[in-house]
Amino acid sequence: MFDYCLHIKITHFLMICITITLFLTFFVAYFPLTDECNCPKETELNLLKHSSKQINGRSITNEHRLAVLVPYRNRFEELLEFVPYIDTFLNNQNINHHVFILNQVDSYRFNRASLINVGFRFVKNEYDYIAMHDVDLLPLNPKLSYQYPEKQPFHIASPELHPKYHYPTFVGGILLINREQFIQVNGMSNNYWGWGLEDDEFYVRLKDAKLNVSRPVDIDSGTSDTFRHIHDKNHRKRDMTKCFNQREITRKRDRITGLNNVIYQISAVKNCTIDGAPLTILNIELSCNRKVTPWCDCSDATASNIEKITKTRKKKTKA
Ligand code: UDP
Ligand code: MN
Repeated sequence: MFDYCLHIKITHFLMICITITLFLTFFVAYFPLTDECNCPKETELNLLKHSSKQINGRSITNEHRLAVLVPYRNRFEELLEFVPYIDTFLNNQNINHHVFILNQVDSYRFNRASLINVGFRFVKNEYDYIAMHDVDLLPLNPKLSYQYPEKQPFHIASPELHPKYHYPTFVGGILLINREQFIQVNGMSNNYWGWGLEDDEFYVRLKDAKLNVSRPVDIDSGTSDTFRHIHDKNHRKRDMTKCFNQREITRKRDRITGLNNVIYQISAVKNCTIDGAPLTILNIELSCNRKVTPWCDCSDATASNIEKITKTRKKKTKA
Protein backbone atom coordinates (compact mmCIF):
# COMPACT_ATOMS: atom_id res chain seq x y z
CA MET A 1 0.00 0.00 0.00
CA PHE A 2 2.73 2.42 1.04
CA ASP A 3 4.77 1.53 -2.08
CA TYR A 4 1.72 2.03 -4.28
CA CYS A 5 1.13 5.59 -2.84
CA LEU A 6 4.74 6.50 -3.33
CA HIS A 7 4.58 5.29 -6.91
CA ILE A 8 1.46 7.45 -7.57
CA LYS A 9 3.17 10.50 -6.01
CA ILE A 10 6.31 10.04 -8.11
CA THR A 11 4.19 9.66 -11.28
CA HIS A 12 2.30 12.89 -10.40
CA PHE A 13 5.54 14.68 -9.76
CA LEU A 14 6.95 13.53 -13.09
CA MET A 15 3.75 14.59 -14.91
CA ILE A 16 3.95 18.07 -13.37
CA CYS A 17 7.63 18.35 -14.39
CA ILE A 18 6.85 17.30 -17.98
CA THR A 19 3.95 19.80 -18.17
CA ILE A 20 6.12 22.67 -16.90
CA THR A 21 8.91 21.75 -19.37
CA LEU A 22 6.42 21.65 -22.26
CA PHE A 23 4.92 24.98 -21.18
CA LEU A 24 8.35 26.64 -20.99
CA THR A 25 9.35 25.21 -24.38
CA PHE A 26 6.23 26.70 -26.02
CA PHE A 27 6.70 30.00 -24.20
CA VAL A 28 10.30 30.39 -25.40
CA ALA A 29 9.30 29.34 -28.93
CA TYR A 30 6.57 31.99 -29.15
CA PHE A 31 8.40 34.76 -27.26
CA PRO A 32 12.07 34.32 -28.24
CA LEU A 33 14.59 35.81 -25.84
CA THR A 34 16.74 38.13 -27.99
CA ASP A 35 18.93 41.17 -27.36
CA GLU A 36 16.41 43.41 -29.07
CA CYS A 37 14.45 45.85 -27.02
CA ASN A 38 12.73 49.13 -27.54
CA CYS A 39 15.59 50.99 -25.89
CA PRO A 40 17.55 53.64 -27.84
CA LYS A 41 20.55 52.26 -29.75
CA GLU A 42 24.07 53.03 -28.54
CA THR A 43 24.58 55.83 -31.05
CA GLU A 44 21.24 57.39 -30.09
CA LEU A 45 22.24 57.15 -26.45
CA ASN A 46 25.47 58.95 -27.22
CA LEU A 47 23.58 61.66 -29.05
CA LEU A 48 21.14 62.00 -26.15
CA LYS A 49 24.01 62.09 -23.69
CA HIS A 50 25.53 65.02 -25.54
CA SER A 51 22.39 66.82 -26.59
CA SER A 52 22.53 69.31 -23.76
CA LYS A 53 25.66 71.07 -22.64
CA GLN A 54 26.43 73.89 -20.27
CA ILE A 55 28.27 76.94 -21.60
CA ASN A 56 28.99 79.68 -19.09
CA GLY A 57 25.98 78.59 -17.06
CA ARG A 58 23.78 78.69 -20.19
CA SER A 59 22.42 75.40 -21.45
CA ILE A 60 22.82 74.52 -25.13
CA THR A 61 20.09 72.20 -26.32
CA ASN A 62 20.17 70.96 -29.86
CA GLU A 63 19.21 67.55 -31.08
CA HIS A 64 22.06 67.56 -33.61
CA ARG A 65 25.79 67.26 -32.98
CA LEU A 66 28.38 68.95 -35.17
CA ALA A 67 31.97 67.71 -35.45
CA VAL A 68 34.19 70.53 -36.75
CA LEU A 69 36.88 68.63 -38.68
CA VAL A 70 40.01 70.72 -39.26
CA PRO A 71 42.72 69.27 -41.55
CA TYR A 72 45.94 70.48 -40.03
CA ARG A 73 49.72 70.60 -40.22
CA ASN A 74 52.08 73.27 -38.99
CA ARG A 75 49.63 76.18 -38.61
CA PHE A 76 49.99 76.77 -34.91
CA GLU A 77 49.37 80.54 -34.79
CA GLU A 78 46.20 80.09 -36.86
CA LEU A 79 45.07 77.26 -34.58
CA LEU A 80 45.45 79.41 -31.46
CA GLU A 81 43.18 81.97 -33.04
CA PHE A 82 40.73 79.59 -34.71
CA VAL A 83 39.66 77.36 -31.82
CA PRO A 84 38.43 79.96 -29.29
CA TYR A 85 36.93 82.04 -32.10
CA ILE A 86 34.86 79.26 -33.69
CA ASP A 87 33.82 77.94 -30.28
CA THR A 88 32.27 81.29 -29.34
CA PHE A 89 30.77 81.73 -32.82
CA LEU A 90 29.03 78.32 -32.61
CA ASN A 91 27.92 78.76 -29.00
CA ASN A 92 26.24 82.01 -30.04
CA GLN A 93 24.24 79.98 -32.59
CA ASN A 94 23.32 77.34 -30.02
CA ILE A 95 25.23 74.68 -32.00
CA ASN A 96 26.17 71.54 -30.09
CA HIS A 97 29.70 71.07 -31.40
CA HIS A 98 33.23 69.88 -30.80
CA VAL A 99 36.45 70.79 -32.66
CA PHE A 100 38.73 68.00 -33.92
CA ILE A 101 42.20 68.92 -35.17
CA LEU A 102 43.29 66.32 -37.74
CA ASN A 103 47.03 66.62 -37.36
CA GLN A 104 48.95 64.86 -40.14
CA VAL A 105 52.13 63.48 -38.56
CA ASP A 106 53.51 61.17 -41.27
CA SER A 107 56.21 62.35 -43.69
CA TYR A 108 54.07 62.42 -46.84
CA ARG A 109 52.75 65.54 -48.51
CA PHE A 110 49.67 67.09 -46.94
CA ASN A 111 46.43 65.26 -47.76
CA ARG A 112 43.43 67.33 -46.70
CA ALA A 113 40.80 64.90 -48.04
CA SER A 114 42.21 61.76 -46.41
CA LEU A 115 42.44 63.59 -43.09
CA ILE A 116 38.74 64.46 -43.36
CA ASN A 117 37.93 60.79 -44.10
CA VAL A 118 39.88 59.72 -41.01
CA GLY A 119 38.25 62.41 -38.86
CA PHE A 120 34.81 61.33 -40.04
CA ARG A 121 35.48 57.69 -39.20
CA PHE A 122 36.57 58.77 -35.72
CA VAL A 123 33.46 60.85 -34.96
CA LYS A 124 30.70 59.14 -36.92
CA ASN A 125 29.04 57.31 -34.03
CA GLU A 126 28.57 60.40 -31.93
CA TYR A 127 28.05 63.24 -34.40
CA ASP A 128 25.38 63.47 -37.07
CA TYR A 129 27.01 66.16 -39.22
CA ILE A 130 30.45 67.53 -39.94
CA ALA A 131 31.99 70.81 -41.01
CA MET A 132 35.06 70.41 -43.18
CA HIS A 133 36.77 73.53 -41.92
CA ASP A 134 39.97 75.30 -42.93
CA VAL A 135 41.91 76.45 -39.89
CA ASP A 136 42.65 79.83 -41.46
CA LEU A 137 39.11 80.87 -42.41
CA LEU A 138 37.14 82.68 -39.70
CA PRO A 139 33.44 83.42 -40.30
CA LEU A 140 32.80 87.07 -39.45
CA ASN A 141 29.14 87.48 -40.27
CA PRO A 142 26.95 85.96 -37.51
CA LYS A 143 24.27 85.27 -40.15
CA LEU A 144 26.39 82.43 -41.56
CA SER A 145 24.43 79.48 -40.21
CA TYR A 146 26.04 76.23 -39.02
CA GLN A 147 22.67 74.47 -38.45
CA TYR A 148 22.20 70.81 -39.37
CA PRO A 149 22.04 70.46 -43.19
CA GLU A 150 19.07 68.15 -43.49
CA LYS A 151 18.43 67.93 -47.21
CA GLN A 152 21.64 68.93 -48.95
CA PRO A 153 25.24 69.90 -48.12
CA PHE A 154 25.57 73.56 -47.16
CA HIS A 155 28.60 75.43 -48.47
CA ILE A 156 29.29 78.24 -46.04
CA ALA A 157 32.39 79.59 -47.80
CA SER A 158 30.37 80.33 -50.93
CA PRO A 159 32.25 81.65 -54.01
CA GLU A 160 30.24 84.86 -53.68
CA LEU A 161 31.58 85.40 -50.17
CA HIS A 162 35.01 83.72 -50.03
CA PRO A 163 37.88 86.23 -50.14
CA LYS A 164 39.88 84.29 -52.76
CA TYR A 165 37.91 81.62 -54.67
CA HIS A 166 35.01 82.71 -56.86
CA TYR A 167 34.31 79.89 -59.35
CA PRO A 168 30.77 78.49 -59.19
CA THR A 169 31.69 74.86 -58.42
CA PHE A 170 33.96 75.78 -55.49
CA VAL A 171 33.08 73.77 -52.35
CA GLY A 172 36.28 74.27 -50.31
CA GLY A 173 36.94 76.35 -47.22
CA ILE A 174 33.94 75.47 -45.05
CA LEU A 175 31.35 72.85 -46.03
CA LEU A 176 28.64 71.27 -43.87
CA ILE A 177 27.41 67.79 -44.75
CA ASN A 178 25.36 65.29 -42.79
CA ARG A 179 26.54 61.81 -41.85
CA GLU A 180 24.33 59.89 -44.28
CA GLN A 181 25.32 62.03 -47.24
CA PHE A 182 29.04 61.80 -46.53
CA ILE A 183 28.73 58.01 -46.35
CA GLN A 184 26.57 57.97 -49.49
CA VAL A 185 29.36 59.52 -51.61
CA ASN A 186 32.06 57.38 -49.92
CA GLY A 187 33.68 60.50 -48.43
CA MET A 188 36.54 62.15 -50.31
CA SER A 189 39.21 60.79 -52.64
CA ASN A 190 42.48 59.69 -51.02
CA ASN A 191 44.52 60.47 -54.15
CA TYR A 192 45.16 64.15 -53.48
CA TRP A 193 48.58 64.70 -51.92
CA GLY A 194 49.76 68.31 -51.99
CA TRP A 195 47.64 71.39 -52.53
CA GLY A 196 44.43 71.55 -54.55
CA LEU A 197 41.70 69.80 -56.56
CA GLU A 198 40.44 67.44 -53.82
CA ASP A 199 37.52 69.79 -53.17
CA ASP A 200 36.72 69.99 -56.90
CA GLU A 201 36.67 66.19 -57.09
CA PHE A 202 34.32 66.17 -54.10
CA TYR A 203 32.00 68.55 -55.94
CA VAL A 204 31.72 65.96 -58.74
CA ARG A 205 30.97 63.20 -56.20
CA LEU A 206 28.11 65.29 -54.82
CA LYS A 207 26.84 66.09 -58.30
CA ASP A 208 26.90 62.42 -59.36
CA ALA A 209 24.89 61.57 -56.21
CA LYS A 210 22.43 64.37 -57.11
CA LEU A 211 23.29 66.21 -53.92
CA ASN A 212 23.06 69.85 -54.90
CA VAL A 213 24.96 72.17 -52.64
CA SER A 214 23.03 75.05 -51.06
CA ARG A 215 24.67 78.28 -49.98
CA PRO A 216 23.95 81.21 -47.63
CA VAL A 217 21.32 83.70 -48.80
CA ASP A 218 20.49 87.21 -47.65
CA ILE A 219 24.00 87.88 -46.45
CA ASP A 220 24.67 91.59 -46.03
CA SER A 221 28.47 91.31 -46.36
CA GLY A 222 30.73 90.54 -49.33
CA THR A 223 34.04 88.98 -50.29
CA SER A 224 36.07 91.33 -48.12
CA ASP A 225 34.12 91.22 -44.87
CA THR A 226 32.30 87.87 -44.59
CA PHE A 227 35.42 85.89 -43.66
CA ARG A 228 38.90 86.58 -42.41
CA HIS A 229 41.46 84.45 -44.26
CA ILE A 230 44.54 84.37 -42.03
CA HIS A 231 46.91 83.28 -44.77
CA ASP A 232 50.13 84.95 -45.84
CA LYS A 233 51.13 83.05 -48.99
CA ASN A 234 54.83 83.70 -48.45
CA HIS A 235 54.79 82.47 -44.88
CA ARG A 236 52.43 79.52 -45.52
CA LYS A 237 53.42 78.37 -48.98
CA ARG A 238 50.98 76.20 -50.90
CA ASP A 239 52.55 72.90 -52.03
CA MET A 240 51.71 73.05 -55.73
CA THR A 241 54.35 70.64 -57.03
CA LYS A 242 53.10 68.00 -59.46
CA CYS A 243 55.23 64.89 -59.88
CA PHE A 244 54.98 61.55 -61.68
CA ASN A 245 51.50 61.23 -63.26
CA GLN A 246 49.78 63.32 -60.57
CA ARG A 247 48.40 65.96 -62.88
CA GLU A 248 46.83 63.45 -65.25
CA ILE A 249 45.24 61.28 -62.54
CA THR A 250 43.99 64.03 -60.26
CA ARG A 251 42.11 65.72 -63.09
CA LYS A 252 39.74 62.75 -63.19
CA ARG A 253 36.88 61.65 -60.97
CA ASP A 254 38.09 58.88 -58.61
CA ARG A 255 35.62 55.99 -58.30
CA ILE A 256 37.92 53.76 -56.29
CA THR A 257 39.19 55.46 -53.17
CA GLY A 258 37.37 57.17 -50.34
CA LEU A 259 36.00 56.83 -46.84
CA ASN A 260 35.90 53.02 -46.99
CA ASN A 261 39.54 52.42 -47.92
CA VAL A 262 41.65 55.20 -46.40
CA ILE A 263 44.66 53.56 -44.69
CA TYR A 264 45.94 55.19 -41.53
CA GLN A 265 46.81 54.96 -37.88
CA ILE A 266 45.83 57.33 -35.12
CA SER A 267 48.94 57.50 -32.95
CA ALA A 268 47.58 59.87 -30.30
CA VAL A 269 44.33 61.44 -29.14
CA LYS A 270 44.73 64.49 -26.90
CA ASN A 271 41.97 66.52 -25.30
CA CYS A 272 42.88 70.06 -24.39
CA THR A 273 41.62 73.64 -24.32
CA ILE A 274 42.75 76.93 -25.82
CA ASP A 275 41.57 79.95 -23.81
CA GLY A 276 38.92 77.69 -22.28
CA ALA A 277 37.65 76.35 -25.62
CA PRO A 278 37.77 72.53 -25.79
CA LEU A 279 39.31 70.60 -28.68
CA THR A 280 40.57 67.13 -29.49
CA ILE A 281 43.80 66.64 -31.43
CA LEU A 282 44.19 63.44 -33.43
CA ASN A 283 47.70 62.60 -34.56
CA ILE A 284 47.16 60.84 -37.87
CA GLU A 285 49.68 58.77 -39.81
CA LEU A 286 48.44 58.28 -43.35
CA SER A 287 49.70 55.41 -45.48
CA CYS A 288 50.59 55.81 -49.12
CA ASN A 289 50.72 53.08 -51.74
CA ARG A 290 53.54 54.47 -53.90
CA LYS A 291 52.61 52.19 -56.78
CA VAL A 292 49.20 53.87 -57.00
CA THR A 293 49.95 57.46 -55.92
CA PRO A 294 53.75 57.95 -56.19
CA TRP A 295 53.17 61.71 -55.88
CA CYS A 296 52.61 61.39 -52.11
CA ASP A 297 56.34 62.05 -51.97
CA CYS A 298 57.94 64.07 -54.77
CA SER A 299 61.41 63.91 -53.25
CA ASP A 300 61.97 60.60 -55.05
CA ALA A 301 61.03 62.07 -58.40
CA THR A 302 63.87 62.75 -60.79
CA ALA A 303 63.99 66.20 -62.29
CA SER A 304 62.56 64.79 -65.49
CA ASN A 305 59.49 63.43 -63.66
CA ILE A 306 58.63 66.93 -62.65
CA GLU A 307 59.93 68.90 -65.63
CA LYS A 308 58.43 66.60 -68.25
CA ILE A 309 54.92 67.39 -67.06
CA THR A 310 55.67 71.10 -66.90
CA LYS A 311 57.08 71.05 -70.46
CA THR A 312 54.10 69.11 -71.81
CA ARG A 313 51.79 71.61 -70.19
CA LYS A 314 53.66 74.54 -71.66
CA LYS A 315 53.50 72.95 -75.10
CA LYS A 316 49.80 72.26 -74.71
CA THR A 317 49.18 75.81 -73.55
CA LYS A 318 51.03 77.22 -76.57
CA ALA A 319 49.17 75.02 -79.01
N1 UDP B 1 46.49 72.99 -44.17
C1 UDP B 1 47.37 72.87 -43.11
N2 UDP B 1 48.70 72.77 -43.35
C2 UDP B 1 49.21 72.77 -44.60
C3 UDP B 1 48.32 72.89 -45.69
C4 UDP B 1 46.98 73.02 -45.44
O1 UDP B 1 46.96 72.88 -41.95
O2 UDP B 1 50.43 72.67 -44.76
C5 UDP B 1 45.04 73.01 -43.91
C6 UDP B 1 44.56 74.24 -43.20
O3 UDP B 1 43.41 73.93 -42.46
C7 UDP B 1 44.23 75.13 -44.37
C8 UDP B 1 43.58 74.15 -45.33
O4 UDP B 1 44.32 72.96 -45.15
O5 UDP B 1 43.37 76.17 -43.98
C9 UDP B 1 43.60 74.60 -46.79
O6 UDP B 1 44.91 74.86 -47.21
P1 UDP B 1 45.38 76.32 -47.68
O7 UDP B 1 45.02 77.32 -46.65
O8 UDP B 1 46.83 76.24 -48.03
O9 UDP B 1 44.55 76.52 -49.00
P2 UDP B 1 43.83 77.84 -49.57
O10 UDP B 1 42.37 77.58 -49.39
O11 UDP B 1 44.27 79.05 -48.80
O12 UDP B 1 44.23 77.88 -51.00
MN1 MN C 1 44.28 79.32 -46.67
